[in-house]
Amino acid sequence: MSNGIIALLPDHVANQIAAGEVVQRPCSVVKELVENAIDAGATQIKIIIKDAGKTLIQIIDNGKGMNPFDARMCFERHATSKIASAHDLFTLTTKGFRGEALASIAAVSQVELKTRQADDIVAQEIIIEGGKFISQTECQSSIGTSFIVKNLFYNIPARRNFLKSDQIEQKHILDEIERVAFPHTNIHFIVQSNNNEILNLPAGNLMHRIKSMLGNYIQKELVPITEDTGFVKISGYVTLPDAAIKSKKEQYFFVNNRFVRNPFLNHAIYEAYKELISYQSHPRYFIFLELDPKEIDINIHPTKTEVKFTDDKVIYMLLVSSIKRALGKVNAAPSMDFESNESYSSSYATSNTKIAAPKISYNPSYNPFKSDVSSNQKTNKEHWEVLFDGFKTELTEAESEIKMQQVIEPIQAETIDFTVFQLNLKYIVTTYNNNILVVDQQRAHERIVYEHYLKTKADAKIPSQQVLFAEQFECSSNDFELMNSLIPEFNLLGFDIAVFGKNSFVVNGTPADLQDFNINQTIDTILESYKLNTIDAKIEKHDNLCRAIAKSTSIKYGKHLNEDEMKQIVSHLFDCENPLYTANGKPVMMEVEYNDIEKFFKK
Ligand code: ADP
Ligand code: MG
Repeated sequence: MSNGIIALLPDHVANQIAAGEVVQRPCSVVKELVENAIDAGATQIKIIIKDAGKTLIQIIDNGKGMNPFDARMCFERHATSKIASAHDLFTLTTKGFRGEALASIAAVSQVELKTRQADDIVAQEIIIEGGKFISQTECQSSIGTSFIVKNLFYNIPARRNFLKSDQIEQKHILDEIERVAFPHTNIHFIVQSNNNEILNLPAGNLMHRIKSMLGNYIQKELVPITEDTGFVKISGYVTLPDAAIKSKKEQYFFVNNRFVRNPFLNHAIYEAYKELISYQSHPRYFIFLELDPKEIDINIHPTKTEVKFTDDKVIYMLLVSSIKRALGKVNAAPSMDFESNESYSSSYATSNTKIAAPKISYNPSYNPFKSDVSSNQKTNKEHWEVLFDGFKTELTEAESEIKMQQVIEPIQAETIDFTVFQLNLKYIVTTYNNNILVVDQQRAHERIVYEHYLKTKADAKIPSQQVLFAEQFECSSNDFELMNSLIPEFNLLGFDIAVFGKNSFVVNGTPADLQDFNINQTIDTILESYKLNTIDAKIEKHDNLCRAIAKSTSIKYGKHLNEDEMKQIVSHLFDCENPLYTANGKPVMMEVEYNDIEKFFKK
């Protein structure tokens, strides 16, 4: 039998390929080596870089070191002291566990390791170049470990050329250092770049650390948060509403002391600040969650920062309530009811107004996630039917046909005759029977879009418009499952979406009546609102998706509306089954009665 054409790759080639995943740029090396130092129990870690890590990265720690055997062994692929079986993955308390980092780093650079354990008299020195073992000798060195990584990617010119300017690469390195320095305040970090010390963070508490990284000024802007339910412990700081900034930097989530990104929980923070900060500004936060490792699933991909919880809805609600409580203590949000567990309801928006309540009755303690929307809506109906009679525009059959196809189709101008103006790029103000109506532009449009989509049935799907260039949508493995289960619903609503390989979809078409929107971003936010809505498990799929689409595609605050657009929104709103509330129970409009105006001026 003749030899086949298939051969096993030599180890150093396999390592070089694997390195592509683990080592993307100098900051990846810094991250891996610093994490190893932390896992080794170091209390001091010194990080030395030259030319943003392109020429040299050295990490010196005072941790437990390695014996002569391990010093050689640690460069083998899948060599790890941190897990022994797959079961250990569910009780992980270390940063590393794949045993790939050192093999990968050594494959694409020149490495010198010096390491000594407390019991050993001499240290070990190992030299490896491009994954090839050069030498192991004895030398003098203090207890702990020093890794020198020289000339990263020297043997892969294509990768080296791909690196960005020193300034950008150094910024990436500092970002990585921040993410490990915040949760490990008991470790003294020193950072040296091109022979200058650029960071010196002595051990201390979290407040010390935040101050030494961001400046002392920040102390008076920080509010501590705490919550401990046995299932999860929440701690850290959020900033006062007044200290919100225009960008999204300085937003940090740590789960079991590991930096993670989680859009769902990020949303919880904004929910807690809603009504307290403007829609263009962003709270800063340093939030730590601690859970039993078996309650979380840190994605096993080495560089990913995503995390999956067994029960993220509970965490969501705890976050909202603990932040609201913390802000309430410093009087940042005096009108909220902090005793109640449901303090994240819309009470702030509705119960605190000086102007007499509109005659439309609504429940100020209405909880969008809890109460029964339908009964609420029924009782309101009689009132609003009377109220809006004057606005009703009679649609002919032909007109109603068109109406099903376009979310806001032009209504003939002459059928609408009322005064409108826009207030603060947020509200549409109009009058009816001498009463003043203030309509929230975003919520009104959300209601219109919601009802429009809700009416869609399997036999009358929303027409889809093919996009010129099919767009690929990538998502996390968590979202992939969800998205996959929603494809039929999406397609019913006018999208044309199909699975496209691992964790990705291709979007070939979008609802014909939605125009000018960023497909990727919209699907992202639709998924986010969808997940949010699942907090109320009673909402069925179709309804939920309609809510999510309405929420993410509606006209936003800050959008200038011309007179025609305002009139159309108002008219379409009044054609809705329930113009008073958004699907999630938030009030859409407020009415100031003429009588109350009169009463006021009698004084
Ligand atoms: P992992 O961290 O996933 O186990 P690495 O390739 O990063 O894999 O490291 C391999 C092993 O080398 C670790 O499990 C650890 O036993 C050892 N090691 C690496 N860095 C250090 C260090 N700074 N101090 C002591 N031991 C280390
Ligand atoms: Mg490691």
